[in-house]
Amino acid sequence: MSDCIFCKIAAGEIPSATLYEDENFRVILDLGPATYGHALILPKQHYANLMEVSDELAGKSMILAKKVVTAMTGLLPCDGYNVVQNNGEAAGQTVFHYHVHLIPRYKNDHAGILWKPGKLTDEKRDEILEKVRGKIR
Ligand code: AMP
Ligand code: ZN
Repeated sequence: MSDCIFCKIAAGEIPSATLYEDENFRVILDLGPATYGHALILPKQHYANLMEVSDELAGKSMILAKKVVTAMTGLLPCDGYNVVQNNGEAAGQTVFHYHVHLIPRYKNDHAGILWKPGKLTDEKRDEILEKVRGKIR
């Protein structure tokens, strides 16, 4: 994708604060970090989102997420991580090139990326089960 900024960053055409690179991915620091150490896993191939990314790269991106947060543990003074992956504008996706956020969390960092729990009513539970169960391929 010639006009995709993450394609250009992943390819090294635009400079980035790169933590790691291999044949499939570049891991960079987010320019607008939620917290200290917020990183992004970018595949070098363009896919818009999780629904489109190849099974192989989807799997490899989670294995890489594990490697990066495992390495960060002990190197950064964080107390946990959110591994976040947004799909679609309604979900907060702003760059439409599949990517995985690695967000180190610190006690009382108030990064505000968690949700307020709602209530799963019996009616909604049954409705959703009827719509989705048995149709995941
Ligand atoms: P999302 O909202 O899930 O699409 O995430 C996009 C992320 O990319 C945001 O956290 C931005 O701060 C980050 N971002 C956008 N442009 C750049 C860039 N040129 N270099 C590094 N991070 C970027
Ligand atoms: Zn792209």
